[in-house]
Amino acid sequence: MLDGNEKRYLLECIESGWISSEGPFIKAFEEKFAARFNRKHAIAVCNGTAALDAAIEALGIGPGDEVIMPSFTIISCVMQIVRNGAKPVLIDADPRTWNMDVSAIEARITPRTKAIMAVHIYGLPVDMDPLLELARKHGLKVLEDAAQMHGQTYKGRACGSLGDISTFSFYPNKHITTGEGGMIVTDSDELAEQCRSLRNLCFKPESRFVHDRLGWNLRMTSMQAALGLAQLERLDEFVARKRRMGALYQQLLGDLEGVQLPQASTDYAESVYWVFGLVLDERLGLTAADAMKRLAAEGIGSRPFFYPMHQQPVLRQMGAIADADRCPVAERLYERGFYIPSGLALTEDQIRTVAATVRRILTL
Ligand SMILES: *Cc1c(COP(=O)(O)O)cnc(C)c1O
Repeated sequence: MLDGNEKRYLLECIESGWISSEGPFIKAFEEKFAARFNRKHAIAVCNGTAALDAAIEALGIGPGDEVIMPSFTIISCVMQIVRNGAKPVLIDADPRTWNMDVSAIEARITPRTKAIMAVHIYGLPVDMDPLLELARKHGLKVLEDAAQMHGQTYKGRACGSLGDISTFSFYPNKHITTGEGGMIVTDSDELAEQCRSLRNLCFKPESRFVHDRLGWNLRMTSMQAALGLAQLERLDEFVARKRRMGALYQQLLGDLEGVQLPQASTDYAESVYWVFGLVLDERLGLTAADAMKRLAAEGIGSRPFFYPMHQQPVLRQMGAIADADRCPVAERLYERGFYIPSGLALTEDQIRTVAATVRRILTL
């Protein structure tokens, strides 16, 4: 859905010659983004993974530290933690919302715990208030990954406004896209300054090529920011559209036996249906992989759920996973869960076709 001001802003970049990360759209996008999510600072970066890397580095997470985080998430969340010599402490998913089971966090807090990472998964936010209360009580930082949750709220507060530092992705399957891109937001002047420096090789204004710290080149270009600015203008429209698509799938598939659909709402939020996931009961006799194969044979694309962090070969080989990190709910979600088409460009007719095919394949 690039049919708003995207073309006009992008032409401005080309006609003015300002295409690099020095161009004016970076500042404009950062300012509008910070205002939209009620944050003091927004720092645009080259992707959502880079946003997480910089946030973890800025929080000073290092050797011996522990970070409590979900097992059911994307590898992006854990990479910089283990690269910095810290330990991920993995929490299982809630079987209904598929988010981190917040009630399991306190038992895993130790004197080495430095931060809690909340990752909002698929459509509903993490139950943030008890998590924030635990963080306050134990003096822990909160890193919020809102990559799938632009425009979602938790008890009326914007997702992305709830962590000491919060991150977004603008990959094409996210609610708003810049092709590749990400954003870090925070109210802390100190964290913002570090992230700006880490994004730009930790150049120092006073002695440019003398470095006290290793950073990265995580810069976004003004062309991407031009797209982002145009996309941001339409965020509410996109979220409303996602909710209508999700409601239609719920209506068309709600009575299907043996198939768990996404939870439509909790007492703190209504799903934005970033993706529309299905979890198959054991009694259907099909795994997610079987169902996805059958859908593919009917010309319908689908994607597997996340492979849990505690089972990741790379993390196991590194010795980063302990017995206490086993998460049976996350394992089952991977075995039995997948998601069906839900891109913004999908028409109502296409949704009806997908739903009819899913019904045919999955009827007991
Ligand atoms: C997409 C995503 C990321 C990574 O973002 P990229 O822009 O693809 O690097 C990180 N966390 C979550 C939860 C995501 O969905």
